Amino acid sequence: MFRLAASFLPDRAIQSLTAAYFRASAWYNIGGDKFHSSQSSVDHTTMKIKILPALSDNYMYLLMDEHSKEAAIVDPVEPKTVLAAVEEAGATLTTVLTTHHHWDHAGGNKELVELFGKPLKVVGGDDRIGALTQKVSHGDSFTVGSLKIECLFTPCHTQGHICYNITSDDPQHKPAVFTGDTLFLGGCGKFFEGNAAEMHKALIEILGTLPDHTYVYCGHEYALQNLKFGSHVEPNNAAILEKKAWVQKRRDEGLPSVPSTIGEEKQINPFMRVAEASVQQHANTSDPVATMAAIRAEKDNWKPPKL
Ligand SMILES: [Zn+2]
Repeated sequence: MFRLAASFLPDRAIQSLTAAYFRASAWYNIGGDKFHSSQSSVDHTTMKIKILPALSDNYMYLLMDEHSKEAAIVDPVEPKTVLAAVEEAGATLTTVLTTHHHWDHAGGNKELVELFGKPLKVVGGDDRIGALTQKVSHGDSFTVGSLKIECLFTPCHTQGHICYNITSDDPQHKPAVFTGDTLFLGGCGKFFEGNAAEMHKALIEILGTLPDHTYVYCGHEYALQNLKFGSHVEPNNAAILEKKAWVQKRRDEGLPSVPSTIGEEKQINPFMRVAEASVQQHANTSDPVATMAAIRAEKDNWKPPKL
């Protein structure tokens, strides 16, 4: 739909179409009820990450260096929520990390810059991102306080998609990666502008080679739907069933399912398990890229069976 639309519609109309699409799909994605989640914080010793639910099922993340209080915001689609969180945390916001150009991620950039009033560095990998001041590519890095932000280029969901990996020289640091709409808890983003070979590279060669203990903060609350699909692909995968029960409990309490870890995703996410015999068997092929293509195509039209 987007490729067709992109050929003849002005940018603003495409953004509106994207917004309508995400609102329509959100209804069944978040699971259980139609509420999103309450705000919560995760302490990573050297940094604090504030999870800020937005729209129907998006997540924005405020990450703050605990030493200097310098902070970055990931995908600030609701600028007023972001500014309230910045004030509450006593943070000095300097940087906007944009994962990709879709409206529900980049659509708040311009307004945030205007409301904030002071200069902000707006980072992203795509010229279609609003208020962009620094276009980055794979391997680029910069700092937010003592935190090192490493840019990982993961084109497929969109061609300019960037994931942000946060490392530090401090041995106490617990690493985290912000994966936007490339890697979700238990799933991956749709291939709107790319193909299975690109997603295979992104998930297996780039994100999959980060340390297993890296925390994964993704762009949407899609965990329950993804894990239901995962157990359809691998009915005998106990780790998926266990995680699904845990996520269901979290969602019933209105709490976010993020973060997972890279190591955990390798156990529960069929799109990171395309080299496993059980997933290949389901896809009826022994080629990992063909497996990726087959399970993505199946998931695009899949709805969980009604009980
Ligand atoms: Zn997207």
